[in-house]
Amino acid sequence: MSCIEVKNIYKKFNNEKILKGVDLEIEKGEVISIIGPSGSGKSTFLRCMIGLEEIESGNIITPSKNKMGMVFQSFNLFPHKTVAQNIMESLVIVDKMEKKKAREIAINLLDKVGLKDKADVYPKTLSGGQKQRVAIARALAKNPEVLLFDEPTSALDPEMVKEVLNVISYLRDTSSITMVIVSHEIDFVNKISDRIVVMEKGKIKEVRDNKIKN
Ligand code: ADP
Ligand code: MG
Repeated sequence: MSCIEVKNIYKKFNNEKILKGVDLEIEKGEVISIIGPSGSGKSTFLRCMIGLEEIESGNIITPSKNKMGMVFQSFNLFPHKTVAQNIMESLVIVDKMEKKKAREIAINLLDKVGLKDKADVYPKTLSGGQKQRVAIARALAKNPEVLLFDEPTSALDPEMVKEVLNVISYLRDTSSITMVIVSHEIDFVNKISDRIVVMEKGKIKEVRDNKIKN
């Protein structure tokens, strides 16, 4: 059953064509990686899928936006909120969940990403790898059907890349979340992906089946 259907989408910025007829169908539970040179439209494609950018033409079918989460290169944590509060924020404010229940969910997710002991500290005291694991926990709090990752390890020092990739692998193994991952970590991409999409100059150049793992 397909989870996301992208049909012939076009996207312009300042009259420059950025996405030029992109098609992709993603199955429920599939893990797709997108690779390709800088400027080829990978981020724009993800942003169109989650509705952060409008498309000029074509069609995108996804689960409802509140069932989709995105993890950015730059973490985007709220600096004035503790780690637990970062994760609770949307549950309490948007979903009107009781604080106690939201905190339980937050602690549980922090445990999953190995950061239970950091619940009550502020993001500035964390390493980049830890911040990104909090950002992933925050995305998971909404119980998403789809998670989009836009170069989740590109801002990290090399020694922290692994801890974040391990969390994504763990999600692959323990959940049925559909994942679309833009990454330059090619060993990781080869290990985790069901299919690898190669983008170039605003188009999908190639889709590789990658059924070697498991
Ligand atoms: P990638 O993620 O593959 O590096 P992007 O999707 O970020 O590529 O960018 C593709 C092209 O679109 C680039 O030329 C970039 O400069 C341009 N672009 C991206 N976002 C914007 C924007 N908000 N306004 C204008 N141009 C943009
Ligand atoms: Mg990008």
